[in-house]
Amino acid sequence: MNDKKNIFQKILSKKINANIIYQDKLVTAFDDIHPQSPIHILIIPNTFISTLNDINKNHELLLGRMILVSSKLAKKKCISNNGYRIIINCNTHGCQTIFYLHMHLLGGRQGTKNFF
Ligand code: AMP
Repeated sequence: MNDKKNIFQKILSKKINANIIYQDKLVTAFDDIHPQSPIHILIIPNTFISTLNDINKNHELLLGRMILVSSKLAKKKCISNNGYRIIINCNTHGCQTIFYLHMHLLGGRQGTKNFF
């Protein structure tokens, strides 16, 4: 099995430690190990999807849940009023390094406009 997807599967199966802050039937959220901002949380599906290229109509509920959970966690972490950013990186040009679909929730300081 590819290590770059396996790392998040190991977090789900508790073989690797992570600070899990939310979990339901569809998604799990935990702190990023190398935070790029004061709040940096990853939200992942509980079942494996490699990239955003691999989603289909059957994933509508899951993708909606990922966004709802990001909004809920932003409020819980008290960053919703000042604002935050959610990002899904896809493949090489999108700078995806872990090939297990995940959404970044970033906040806690002023961001910058530039991405590329
Ligand atoms: P991406 O570049 O979009 O694929 O993001 C992958 C993210 O996973 C990076 O922000 C990493 O810091 C994060 N990451 C890698 N390994 C772990 C881990 N064991 N626990 C938490 N976050 C991780």
